[in-house]
Amino acid sequence: MARKIGSRYTAHQILGRGSAGTVWLGEGPDGPVAIKLLREDLASDQELVGRFVQERTALLSLDHPRVVGVRDLVVDGNDLALVMDLVRGTDLRTRLDRERRLAPEAAVAIAADVADALAAAHAAGIVHRDVKPENVLLDMEGPLGPGGAHPALLTDFGIAKLIDTPRRTRATKIIGTPDYLAPEIIEGLPPRAAVDIYALATVLYELLAGFTPFGGGHPGAILRRHVTETVVPLPGIPDELWQLLIQCLAKAPASRLRASELAARLRELGPLLAGMAPLDVDDPDDPDDPDGPDDADASGAGEGAAADPATEASRPAGPDPSGAAAPRRGAVSLVPGAAPADSNRDTHTSMRVPAPDELAGGARGTARAPRATGAPRPGSARNRHPARRRRITLGVAGLVLAVALGGGIWAATSSGDGERPPSDENNSAPAAP
Ligand code: ADP
Ligand code: MG
Repeated sequence: MARKIGSRYTAHQILGRGSAGTVWLGEGPDGPVAIKLLREDLASDQELVGRFVQERTALLSLDHPRVVGVRDLVVDGNDLALVMDLVRGTDLRTRLDRERRLAPEAAVAIAADVADALAAAHAAGIVHRDVKPENVLLDMEGPLGPGGAHPALLTDFGIAKLIDTPRRTRATKIIGTPDYLAPEIIEGLPPRAAVDIYALATVLYELLAGFTPFGGGHPGAILRRHVTETVVPLPGIPDELWQLLIQCLAKAPASRLRASELAARLRELGPLLAGMAPLDVDDPDDPDDPDGPDDADASGAGEGAAADPATEASRPAGPDPSGAAAPRRGAVSLVPGAAPADSNRDTHTSMRVPAPDELAGGARGTARAPRATGAPRPGSARNRHPARRRRITLGVAGLVLAVALGGGIWAATSSGDGERPPSDENNSAPAAP
């Protein structure tokens, strides 16, 4: 069913659903486009609509081959839509779900593309704030690069800023995706360019390892790990690559590389990594692992069905056209009847900055501890004492209050500061400036 968006665009079919809205394959005066229709509760927020118009120039001006260009912003009745370049391919999360780990050369090539996109954005004074595999689109019609990697493009610039209301975030709220959040955001500092570098290094680690360094379990536990834990080396990773990763995962933002430097260093590493197989690392959350999953919080929904990349080449990025959504590992269905979704990988819009005492104690040793296949589990507290880990997870459950996800909302409540979920907030009158 076709749907008119403003006077110039028609939306034809849904390509994908995200936390901010639904992305449609559409048609405009200059040919096919992707149209992101923002969620109703966001579109009805007058303050957000105002910022949407204000941000228009900045969003439209970001023109770079590694950035999914925003071509138009449409405010039409109840609709609020971003018209974007159409990318024919898939998103990086879908590829990662299918392949689990990428060859280092391909992982580094993709990360270098994203670093290029960030360099352009940072030079224009724009911080992305939500770098993650879901926001990286792979252009299957573009030329194959090093390690068989298609060109990668970063999307969703400005979305975090649009959704971020002064009311909601002042100094106490965080917007982002727990697995990729830099420690300084968790400690309440305003997000600067270095938060994107931290998130990109997390993505690169994930492409290599198959899991993020600090993910797993309750969002509050993840936040605390970012602040208190150090990242554990990946078995078999070349030292030059590891050094680059830990520099960009530094807790201190000033210690991280700038985007342009990171892109250059990653490209230098390419030849060194050529032909190297994906790292042989056991997944701490994998139910097929002979030792079993060691994360009580992961349900382990199993791998998505393998798809033939050739058949994917000419379709726009989006879910399997058969409608069969590939289950994601560690996926937990939060809304009854909803498709499985990994809460920790969705953009969270209502996290609370934890108090210093909440960050201080208890969760040490709970970071994912990678090990080579067949090697004994390292002596991390998390692996040795699952019961203790459960206690820790319960202990931090008070860190995060209400989390809005996709269409549904779940409350990870155990401490309250009286905040309502954003959908309620959006329906109320805007606060006085
Ligand atoms: P959100 O950021 O709101 O969570 P996304 O931007 O990730 O939503 O979009 C959801 C899905 O829609 C993506 O995973 C992708 O499959 C598809 N999609 C998004 N943007 C485009 C685009 N420009 N071209 C093609 N497909 C897209
Ligand atoms: Mg997105």
